[in-house]
Amino acid sequence: MAKEALSELDIDLDMIEHIEHDAGLGNGGLGRLAACFLESMASLGIAGHGCGIRYKYGLFEQKIINGFQVELPDNWLKNGNVWEIRKSDKSVVVKFGGNIRIQTTNGKDEFIHENYEPILGVPYDMPVIGYKNEIVNTLRLWSAESEKSDFDLSSFNKGDYQKAVEYKNSVEAISQILYPDDSSYEGKILRLKQQYFFVSSGLQSIVRRYKKKNGSLENFAEKIAVHINDTHPALCVPELMRILIDEEHFGWDEAWDITTNTLSYTNHTILPEALEKWPIDLFKSLLPRIYMIVEEINERFTKSLWDKYPGNWDLISDLAVISNGNIKMVNLAIVGSKYVNGVAKIHTEILKNKVMNNFYNLYPHKFNNKTNGVTHRRFLLKANPKLSNTISDAIGTKWIEKPTELMKLLKFKDDQSFREKIAIAKRYNKSILTKYIKDEYNLVIDETSIFDVHIKRIHAYKRQLMNVFHIMDLYNRLKENPNLDITPRTFIFAGKAAPGYVLAKDIIKLINTLAFKVNNDKLIKDKIKIIFIENYNVTLAEMLIPAADISEQISTASKEASGTGNMKFMMNGALTLGTLDGANVEIKDEVGYENMFIFGLKADEVIHYYDNGGYNAWHVYNHDYRIKKILNQLVDGFFEHEPEEFRLIYDSLLGHNDEFFVLKDFSSYVDTQSLVDEKYRDKQRWNKMCINNIAHSGIFSSDRTISEYAKQIWEINDKWL
Ligand SMILES: *Cc1c(COP(=O)(O)O)cnc(C)c1O
Repeated sequence: MAKEALSELDIDLDMIEHIEHDAGLGNGGLGRLAACFLESMASLGIAGHGCGIRYKYGLFEQKIINGFQVELPDNWLKNGNVWEIRKSDKSVVVKFGGNIRIQTTNGKDEFIHENYEPILGVPYDMPVIGYKNEIVNTLRLWSAESEKSDFDLSSFNKGDYQKAVEYKNSVEAISQILYPDDSSYEGKILRLKQQYFFVSSGLQSIVRRYKKKNGSLENFAEKIAVHINDTHPALCVPELMRILIDEEHFGWDEAWDITTNTLSYTNHTILPEALEKWPIDLFKSLLPRIYMIVEEINERFTKSLWDKYPGNWDLISDLAVISNGNIKMVNLAIVGSKYVNGVAKIHTEILKNKVMNNFYNLYPHKFNNKTNGVTHRRFLLKANPKLSNTISDAIGTKWIEKPTELMKLLKFKDDQSFREKIAIAKRYNKSILTKYIKDEYNLVIDETSIFDVHIKRIHAYKRQLMNVFHIMDLYNRLKENPNLDITPRTFIFAGKAAPGYVLAKDIIKLINTLAFKVNNDKLIKDKIKIIFIENYNVTLAEMLIPAADISEQISTASKEASGTGNMKFMMNGALTLGTLDGANVEIKDEVGYENMFIFGLKADEVIHYYDNGGYNAWHVYNHDYRIKKILNQLVDGFFEHEPEEFRLIYDSLLGHNDEFFVLKDFSSYVDTQSLVDEKYRDKQRWNKMCINNIAHSGIFSSDRTISEYAKQIWEINDKWL
């Protein structure tokens, strides 16, 4: 209706939509997954609400200047946010610092928190709207404010204006900015403040509402499920204990029973650098009461371990919540949760058999798998109207609410005219992207070339470098033989690097430097083009993914817990070029090896090398002339400027023995890329492969993921579903 009304005024609703800023409140896959889950919960009619921080500045805006990433602040609230409603009457107080006084009355200890700094958590609610079902859930974002009014500040500080402003700023700093590190942990005190602020605000609001509705906390754990999404909110465990014991006057055992039946935890990564550990001293002075509770949890837990594993110090210290002067957030989350899950079959198996094996032996019943998913309503229906209409014309519109209906497309996989329609939708999306690249980057690309798309956070384990090396090899071959018969290709990259991650930023610079060289080389007759599209975000994903022929999912096997980009591409009929990592394995189980391009080391092989050694990057360098040439080109002035520019990349591979097996997997990757080139020449067969992928993508809808969480983790009765 809005669309029609606006069109009478000659205004395009889609244009208006594009003026609105993305809410960049997450770093990458983890935050986007949460957004998909909220959409699916609303669309499935589950009363599930999200909780987060209302960062004043979201994930930085990326600009590329002279090939380098430059970060600009993301002032997403600059023009206001029409979707949010500030609810000051639902504010809560979060207490930092101070000391705990123990007061004993009638033989019962009470813990009085004194001299703390009170911070006000003010909720801003945003609606999460279900698909055509009249259900609206809430995303509640917390903003940190001074509990003292501006007037109080000026009088308390006796006219010391500067101090008052400084104080106000220090309070507001808590919800000022999102930390831009994806999958790496930074032990900054402000980050711990953010975590506790968010957890305490959320839990206080849940408990308060429950009491208001039900008069008491009876049946709390039966009616409420709180999900710990990665370890960042692991403080839910001691905070819920604190609320139950200090504010609701439960005894320890009863509080523990409620807590461990309310909370569940999802692990999203096994990268060692992502595992959060907080030094006791820092933790204790910021959160004195929470520290006491964590200590008590640890004490009771390790006592029970001692009974079970007497004398096994190594094992007990590995499982303990506190060890070597640190609080281990993963351990805290596991001990305090009813269930623990991984996000793809292979990831959950690695958790159970390797990373969390000691916990798995202790609590086998806690562990389960919930393979990630994405909302097909955003990433197919909304992002790709052309393909969606083609699908609906063939099988009707039931797939929108029941994505496994997409399987009905298999009937048409040998239908010439349907194959043609799928190809037409792809060509249309490619032409939109082609125009965008011309308009924004003044680069002309060949619409009929293979669109080979690698978009995700820039990280060594995601191996953008391997893609770059394949392009360098292709370029080297074309230079030797300009008549080399290859299918024209457009290599498309996008992704942000954490501002402090020097290697990742060097990779961006390398992509752009190579792009400049290749795109301007007349000798190779436009057979390959490279483009790095700046500021990757969801809006861009919605344009890039529908236009892709090839989905690059080439992480070192065992490193990508699931991936969700892989699923978005599959839904849009792109073929996966990937390792058997994360959910790629399950994509393979669905479509079969014949409908994708699998290469490289397997997870067990990678893990075997990590455990036993036996890989030597120099060996590959010395025996593969292509690798030798490419690596030398990084440091010998091939790029016609500062020859030391890419020394760090060179050293990461040869000096530090190529931690992510880029060189090891290179030759298998290049062979598979040649296969892609060959297969693309048979258009009929290619289109059939695309249809197979779209048809099998239904189970990668977050609707499937969420119904599994609802039944098996949150234990929501059928009547709620
Ligand atoms: C889906 C998505 C991701 C996650 O991509 P992976 O390939 O799974 O790492 C990151 N950023 C954005 C904007 C996305 O839409």
